[in-house]
Amino acid sequence: MYIPDSITSKSDYQECARFHGHTCMGLTIGYLAATCALEHLQVKRAIDEELVAIVENDACCCDAVQVLTGCTFGKGNFFFKDHGKMAFTFGNRSTGKSVRLVLRQEVLNPPEEESRLRTLIHSGEASSGEIRRYEKLSESRLKDLFAAGPHTFFDIQELADPLPPNATIAQSIACDSCGEMVMETKLEDHNGRKLCRACEL
Ligand SMILES: [Zn+2]
Ligand SMILES: [Zn+2]
Repeated sequence: MYIPDSITSKSDYQECARFHGHTCMGLTIGYLAATCALEHLQVKRAIDEELVAIVENDACCCDAVQVLTGCTFGKGNFFFKDHGKMAFTFGNRSTGKSVRLVLRQEVLNPPEEESRLRTLIHSGEASSGEIRRYEKLSESRLKDLFAAGPHTFFDIQELADPLPPNATIAQSIACDSCGEMVMETKLEDHNGRKLCRACEL
């Protein structure tokens, strides 16, 4: 796996790796997406809820997004859509501008020979020569991509959609079944009984 020193030596990248626990291509993709988007929206890391991130997967990349943008699960400005797509939307609440980045197909799907060798390696049937050939192909492809800059990894689209609303603070009341305290907005009415989502099932 090739990630250039020009990226791994950066202090913000190292901060992402510390938070995530290891260095990997997924983390790097999240790093590139967030860096690209912050530059595009001309903003810095969010102190409060001024920035919004919407991720469409729950893979390694999401950790870099949280570290770099300051959009975090806990602050309520980090949204997860379980779509299984390497797609990231970033919005700036003060300007209303938002941008969606989708990892380009060429990044995910290498050309024929590299892809065939990768399948062979995963099946455990590759010879050492084939492994070396795969590593060479993959490294030279990634080198070209990284050299061309983060923008080459993504299709980037400006969005006109409104951003998700600020996190709401609601009072908690007891569920009529389990008695546990629940944010009022998360309770459902079942024939006059207010039930939490766990009791509803
Ligand atoms: Zn990872
Ligand atoms: Zn309950």
